[in-house]
Amino acid sequence: MKAVASDGLTLMETGLYRILGARTAKALDKLGLETVRDLLEHAPRRYVHRGELVPLSHAVEGENVTVVARVLDTSVRPMNARRGFLLKVVISDGMYDMSLTFFASSSRPLAFHQSKLQKGTLATFSGTVSSYRGALQLTHPEYQVLEDEEDVDEEDIARPLPLYPAGVKVPTWTIEKAVGAVLDQLTPQDVKETLPEDYRKRYELLGSYEALLALHRPKTDADWQQAHTRMKHEEALVLQTVLAQRAHETTAVDSEPRPRLNDGIAAEFDSRLPFELTEGQKKVGQEIEKDLSSRRPMNRLLQGDVGSGKTIVALRAMLQVVDGGGQAALLAPTEVLAEQHYRSILSMLGDLAQGGMFGGSTIGTRVDLLTGSLGAQAKRNVLGRLAGGETGIIVGTHALLSDSVQIPFLSLAVVDEQHRFGVDQRDALRTSPGVNLLVMTATPIPRTMAMTVFGDLDVSELTELPGGRQEVSTTIVPASKTTWVNRVWERVGEEVRAGGRAFVICPRITPTENPTLLEDSEAESRPPLASVDEIIEQLQANSDLAGLVIGRLTGQMSSEEKTAAMAAFQSGEIPILVATTVVEVGVDVPDATAMVILDADRFGLSQLHQLRGRIGRGRKPGICLALSWAPPGTLASDRLDAFASTRDGFVLAEKDLELRREGDVLGTSQSGSRSHLKFLSMRKDGKIIGSARADAIAYIETDHTLKQWPGLQDAVTTARTLTETDYLGRN
Ligand code: ADP
Ligand code: MG
Repeated sequence: MKAVASDGLTLMETGLYRILGARTAKALDKLGLETVRDLLEHAPRRYVHRGELVPLSHAVEGENVTVVARVLDTSVRPMNARRGFLLKVVISDGMYDMSLTFFASSSRPLAFHQSKLQKGTLATFSGTVSSYRGALQLTHPEYQVLEDEEDVDEEDIARPLPLYPAGVKVPTWTIEKAVGAVLDQLTPQDVKETLPEDYRKRYELLGSYEALLALHRPKTDADWQQAHTRMKHEEALVLQTVLAQRAHETTAVDSEPRPRLNDGIAAEFDSRLPFELTEGQKKVGQEIEKDLSSRRPMNRLLQGDVGSGKTIVALRAMLQVVDGGGQAALLAPTEVLAEQHYRSILSMLGDLAQGGMFGGSTIGTRVDLLTGSLGAQAKRNVLGRLAGGETGIIVGTHALLSDSVQIPFLSLAVVDEQHRFGVDQRDALRTSPGVNLLVMTATPIPRTMAMTVFGDLDVSELTELPGGRQEVSTTIVPASKTTWVNRVWERVGEEVRAGGRAFVICPRITPTENPTLLEDSEAESRPPLASVDEIIEQLQANSDLAGLVIGRLTGQMSSEEKTAAMAAFQSGEIPILVATTVVEVGVDVPDATAMVILDADRFGLSQLHQLRGRIGRGRKPGICLALSWAPPGTLASDRLDAFASTRDGFVLAEKDLELRREGDVLGTSQSGSRSHLKFLSMRKDGKIIGSARADAIAYIETDHTLKQWPGLQDAVTTARTLTETDYLGRN
């Protein structure tokens, strides 16, 4: 049987060494292509047509490129400084020229290239772009002469030419030939069908075998486009089915129902609230109340814009489970945030947080804080109270995830600022099955991404901000204009003297001699990135800020130092706080009115939005001044314009997605390998993702084992053995 190699491997899993020549197999191995499957999944990057030239203007120094171009001129001459000869070939795509150089010790091999690359010859050239005296060139490129239109028949002219992601030693046509050799042996039986029959019919998709042919050997553009559509559907359906199955499993176990009591701590807390809950808070509160009252464990994402009041929502949920005899944990991404939550929960609860203590309320509970920097004795005490069930609400950082922490009656885990944690950590808190989970994200993410990254969660949204929220004006300040920058510090002085507080955010803590972060081209036009230490020095010398105390907050400070700095800022003792992005998430200082962001073009949109969310939270309007070095028309400058144009996090999330390059959407893992989603685009394929999600949920509801759809079952099982990091390419 042809489809099965002698050792029982299917053709798809067979090593390329068995099928191709050793040299080719070795070369492909360098690209990470070991098996037939690897090779067939190595899709062309794009397709070109004969006569349609790939723009030379896209060539970037240091990159490996493949261009289709015509030879303009060739010349051989002896080298100046050394023995030997040099062949120079000038190629053109009609708009731009580029030189190719070949060296040899005698002129003979050069004559061979010259004869193949005669004037007017159309060829594909592939090599690493270098720069010589300011002009881009390819040295010893690989090339393949293309037949000219007159010599080939019409069908061939129409045929799109696949261009593969190639390596220096493995040009695209070597890959094309290898793929061809493999395809010649491949039969429809070799390629398993992942998509259920009904799914394929519903969306009129190519079968898996046909799709491979159309991808690698398209006869027309429509062919590979259809192949792409099928691949996108496959990726979307597998991913959504993984998520639906995971959601099914986490909610299949029973959780202890903890219905709301009329005379418990939750009801008492509500009756004491100093403000009216927003409509959104009420609605989400009801959704959560219902989840907690049922046997099905809650598995919910709360998306709420910065300042929308998620903490109260979480606290009310925690109180409900405490009423029912359960414990609740609130996991925060940083110590600063954990402490802030702890203090604000204590102050909101008042005597309700002094359960069991003299003078405490009889229905009260105990709230504790657990972070890595807690002293040994204090830590033992907290762990003891937790294990004994005395602590109703525990607030903490990653320290909560440690094995030594036992929360025997854990009923609700709240993960704040979810974007800082991975799925694995999120799930680590669900120590026993049936724990209710509420994850909160402060930066709304676009719907398609929410469906992908958080597709296993039910979603609640808080779209409105509590009433009385203040205006915040945003100005992008060109950092190169000294008078503008001076005005910024003058404004900060005015704000602070009027009773406000100002954050000043820097991308670095200490100045760097060697700004390696910057690319060469940029280094010339901008100074090194602003650092906390340097800026403090500058501001202390600034006469507009004379007499004002300037504080410092960075992630490297000890937690006592951080707490002290935040407290002094809160009280107004230190009205100007120069900080890194440690203040990015969640920090709540109602009197803060000014936010200065240095090197704002270096920050992502959601980060900027988070930073700006730190001001305008009290009674006074805020100003956000973002200093930028980004020239107009750059991506960074567009991002800042978007940032200044709206304060709506949901709108910004969509804009962010639009402005990102595709590869950046789900991030690139440290190893540099791209996400497993090769075809699916978060930006463009929202419709496919949405319908795949609905279909996936339906399949799981019909048969969560997927036995009826063995192809899909296989693909889902394989995908689930990959960690989230592998799968989404995140780190
Ligand atoms: P975030 O959603 O960004 O975590 P917080 O929960 O920190 O927002 O809430 C921001 C501020 O708004 C807090 O000071 C909180 O006390 C206040 N707040 C929350 N809900 C309301 C409300 N319904 N009315 C007035 N203020 C509220
Ligand atoms: Mg918050």
